[in-house]
Amino acid sequence: MPWFAGVAHSAIDWGPTIDPKKCVSCGLCLNCAKDVFEWVDGNSVVARRDDRVVGCMTCGNLCQGHAISFPLLDELRKAYRVNHVWRHVKDAMIEAGKLPAES
Ligand code: SF4
Repeated sequence: MPWFAGVAHSAIDWGPTIDPKKCVSCGLCLNCAKDVFEWVDGNSVVARRDDRVVGCMTCGNLCQGHAISFPLLDELRKAYRVNHVWRHVKDAMIEAGKLPAES
C-alpha cells in the first residue's frame, strides 16, 4: 500500500521495531491483524512494516518482553499536521457517511 490518507507512505515513518535481546519468543505479536510479523528460526521478525496501521501500537502494548518499540508519537503527530492527514481522514469519513457533512 504506497499511500496513506492521500500521503505517500515514505512520508510517514511508522512501524514496529523488535529488540531481539528482550524478545521472549512468546509469539503474541504474530496475532497482528495486518500480518506485519513473521516467525523465522524461532524468533519474530518485522516482515511487512509498511502493512501496519499507522498509529497502531497494540503489539507493543501487549508484548510480553517489552521488546517492541515505535517511533515517537510526537513525530507522527507532526507528520499528520505537515501532510494534512487529519483533513484527508475527516473528508474520507464524511464521504463514507460516517461523519455528517460540514455546513
Ligand atoms: S510479542 Fe514481543 S516477546 Fe513475544 S514474540 Fe513478539 S516481540 Fe517477542
